[in-house]
Amino acid sequence: MHYLYNDHHRLHCHHLQTHLCGMTVETEMIIMEIAAVICASNRHIDRDNCKYAPSRGDMGSEIDKAIASLKKLLSEKKELATTAAAKINQIIGDIQKPDIGPAFVGPDVRIMAGFANFKANKFLANPTLYDELAKGQSPKFMVFACSDSRVCPSHVLDFQPGEAFVVRNIANMVPPFDKVKYAGVGAALEYAVLHLKVENIVVIGHSRCGGIKGLMTFPDEGPTSTDFIEDWVKICTPAKSKVKAGNASASLDDQCVSCEKEAVNVSLANLLTYPFVRTGLLNKTLAIKGGHYDFVNGKFELWGLDFNISPPISSEQ
Ligand SMILES: [Zn+2]
Repeated sequence: MHYLYNDHHRLHCHHLQTHLCGMTVETEMIIMEIAAVICASNRHIDRDNCKYAPSRGDMGSEIDKAIASLKKLLSEKKELATTAAAKINQIIGDIQKPDIGPAFVGPDVRIMAGFANFKANKFLANPTLYDELAKGQSPKFMVFACSDSRVCPSHVLDFQPGEAFVVRNIANMVPPFDKVKYAGVGAALEYAVLHLKVENIVVIGHSRCGGIKGLMTFPDEGPTSTDFIEDWVKICTPAKSKVKAGNASASLDDQCVSCEKEAVNVSLANLLTYPFVRTGLLNKTLAIKGGHYDFVNGKFELWGLDFNISPPISSEQ
């Protein structure tokens, strides 16, 4: 998904929100409806060539509906502030323009429209699920994934709310047990394993990972040029060394692909430094797995703790 911003429209949306602040819930709902329409109609830049994009016809009727609700609002709510009414008229004018161009909404409208869409299509549509989740969570999976905006595990693996307890960080790394340096990761692991009693820990690497490329290209020694990044990705230095030794003549891109997977193996090994993880493995209440999501070719590989023995399961098979 792409969101482009246009200053004129961003200001416009910002002003609209500012002026409508403090108005009735109904007014806010209509504004959210409008925002949702704007987001939906602009989600894809190349609308004509994208199979997921709503057709212009569909969007037309959505926009017509939104305009109708705005006009109704204007006629029924005489108490609307003049500035708000003017803004509503202005937005009606804007969304009636034949070619509205690429996405332009500001961040607040985008966030509220996203929530409005989630609430209407998921939250209110699945009362059983959300009633259950209100009582507690018992996910079977703990997932380590990269912070990269393209690799959200809930999207890629279709995890529903309540299914996966997720830690995301640069290059999906699990550091070794260290109460001082890595308390954040340790706390998440402790909570997931000892309290939630997850049954699987999955560490998922991915294609074109910037963190792994950093690991492969940062100098091994000498002063660092970043405050945090180099020290963090060096958690997986053993993966870098293995790849450099075994694929010395390969291109950097190919070395990175190998390192994306080897770094997952280093993280799997690091998981064993946590006593409660070891206990879970020994008692067979816990399994640990590695994965690699390749968004260039649309593939997913999954493998067990012992990379050299368990044949990987590929999404191609
Ligand atoms: Zn990454």
